[in-house]
Amino acid sequence: MSEEIEKPNKTKNILVMFSGGLDSTTALYKLLKETNNNIYVHHIILKDTSNRWKSELDTSRDIVKYLKNIRPFDYSESTVEVQLNSEDPKGGSRHDDNSTVLFIANQICLVESYKRIDYIVISELECEQDKSTKDYATDMIDVMHKRKWSVKKPKIYDPLKEFNNNKCTIDKDIINKIKNYVLSNLITQETPIDLITNQLFINIICTKRKMYQYLPQGLQNKIVYCRTPNNNNKCNNCFNCLLYENIV
Ligand SMILES: [Zn+2]
Repeated sequence: MSEEIEKPNKTKNILVMFSGGLDSTTALYKLLKETNNNIYVHHIILKDTSNRWKSELDTSRDIVKYLKNIRPFDYSESTVEVQLNSEDPKGGSRHDDNSTVLFIANQICLVESYKRIDYIVISELECEQDKSTKDYATDMIDVMHKRKWSVKKPKIYDPLKEFNNNKCTIDKDIINKIKNYVLSNLITQETPIDLITNQLFINIICTKRKMYQYLPQGLQNKIVYCRTPNNNNKCNNCFNCLLYENIV
């Protein structure tokens, strides 16, 4: 999915889709700190059946304020209400965040064509993607670009590549606990079960640990991850709380 940035001497325009979570915060911090590209940051206030959007929005604004001390960048927000599939006891509309993020990213590239976006950063970890996920992102950009062919066609860029699959030690019991949680609480019939392997969770935890360690403490303390927060406090009960216990 990721393309190397060509001509590193030339300043590029990069759109970072930013959630306030570990992945997109690391991607944004790295781009601001290590490159001189023009950075456009966009946060989607994704109103689904949970009220997670409130803590994500507070966190995003807080992190953006912090990161603007590194260097200035453009920041915008949009609101999407997705109440689809709300009867699904195993997750509902949250299953398809990615298509929403890609759609809005494409809209920004097309509608705000003066930004001449070269690259879109969606902060999906390499280890979490199968071929169909990668094809989906590329196809979606192709289809939307064909509607407005005169506009520059962006590419997906992955600034998190270097953190991928770093080896670390994880207790086997913890991996089994995480895997069982996913299989019994998060996966609906439509999701291919064969993608849910022990190795997948080992890769995710090792990659995220490496990313977390890369961040300065001021950012580490701000990251949001809980799926069902209460007044910005984590629940200590959801999948992400279980996962991040072994990362932070
Ligand atoms: Zn939680």
